[in-house]
Amino acid sequence: MINRPTMDAEPISRKDFLSITGKSVALGVAGTLAANSLLNQNVLAQTRPRPLSPPAKIPAGVEEPIVLEAWKSDVDQQSGPTPTPLPPDSRVGYAVVGLGHLALEEVLPALSSCEKSKLTALVSGSPEKMKKVAAQYGIKPESCYSYETYDQLKNNQEVDVIYIILPNALHKEYVVRGAKAGKHILCEKPMAVSSKECKEMIAACNAAKVKLMVAYRIQYQPHNRKLRELLQNKTFGAPKLIEASNSQSSANPAHWRHKKTLAGGGALPDIGLYCLNTNRFILGEEPTEVFAYQYSTPGNPLFTEVEELMSWQMRFPSGVIASCATDYNVHESRRYRVLCEKGWLNMDKAYAYKGQKLSTARAEGKMERQEEIGLSETNQFAAEMDHFSDCILKNKRPFTPGEEGLQDHILMEAIYESARTGKPVKLTHKVTQPLRGPEPEIAG
Ligand code: NAD
Repeated sequence: MINRPTMDAEPISRKDFLSITGKSVALGVAGTLAANSLLNQNVLAQTRPRPLSPPAKIPAGVEEPIVLEAWKSDVDQQSGPTPTPLPPDSRVGYAVVGLGHLALEEVLPALSSCEKSKLTALVSGSPEKMKKVAAQYGIKPESCYSYETYDQLKNNQEVDVIYIILPNALHKEYVVRGAKAGKHILCEKPMAVSSKECKEMIAACNAAKVKLMVAYRIQYQPHNRKLRELLQNKTFGAPKLIEASNSQSSANPAHWRHKKTLAGGGALPDIGLYCLNTNRFILGEEPTEVFAYQYSTPGNPLFTEVEELMSWQMRFPSGVIASCATDYNVHESRRYRVLCEKGWLNMDKAYAYKGQKLSTARAEGKMERQEEIGLSETNQFAAEMDHFSDCILKNKRPFTPGEEGLQDHILMEAIYESARTGKPVKLTHKVTQPLRGPEPEIAG
């Protein structure tokens, strides 16, 4: 286990390291299509002076902070900061549970680019696969576990965090067992298959005095964080309407995602959840009422147990209405648009692993100014894991704790109820406060 510092170091904000470029295009509002010429190219350079590279965190036992400024001079091109990852021995150790698509294609590679986190153990039901993965990532045979020997993780001092990447219905069991093993837990979304399970998971982690975070990667993604900042600063006036959709096509009815007992539901908890969670995140408020329609193509074997389509509206206390939709049986589309008094903000590829495109429009007299806001891409999985590691190193509440997952499950249950009854459902439960921990030290 890593040594935890007794004092909180000064947070280093990666916000300062982003370079932001704006491409502006002016269009007539009255429908005259102005030429799509680039009118100007703004470089929204940082105005505050900042160090070229921040001091690294001081690992336990190291007297002086590691500072990399010396490697850059004033005549060098002003690029982003020199990365200052923690030395390997000081990083937070992760056991990854479940070696499926997400683990193999995204999470394990992302761990290699983390600055505060490292892979130290694997858990899988397939010894052959695990042997190959362990060889590739340099994991010792004694740090490879089956689901039966999972609880023995408690004796592995190199493991601080257990990251659950299993089918949704298995999350609760492995979170509770992981907490009893004394490890902090990062759990994939959806947190579970019911709000009741979420409450049990939160209680288990509280009882074991370990941290619990839900892997809501979008809340650590720079473009979505930037949109939230513009919205909350009222840069475009008050938000009024949100249109959001997250859809994809699905082909294999035998997959666990199409089995109610393993998935808990269909498109809503798997991909529709991104619309729900991101709307709450960017607005910073909680819905008071939902209304929903649900549909599944009759006779389609993909949808005998779980829904194909969910379309729902959420009413927020500020008056904002969010119209959301998700479908498992259409060509991929992942986007949202926020309509405000004086303009709009649009996010294409909003919930994808990469390629987010943030654009805005603002009324300027009889004209409309459109801008594309370019931000550096980050690895969302590395950002969320490094945030959780930071919370462990500094004993902070995660930005997306278990309560964040619980709130989404309460809302999804209301959405299903509305679709079933054909009536709006009011949300009267008291939201646990504080829902989120302090802002993560990343772009935004
Ligand atoms: P997957 O089917 O590719 O992998 C699941 C793993 O669980 C496999 O290794 C499988 O062998 C194992 N497993 C153990 N017991 C099982 C059982 N009884 N039935 C089926 N598989 C079993 O799934 P995935 O796409 O990697 O998704 C895993 C989790 O990650 C889900 O909760 C999903 O919602 C979440 N996920 C999140 C993101 C994201 O962007 N954050 C993306 C994809 C998946």
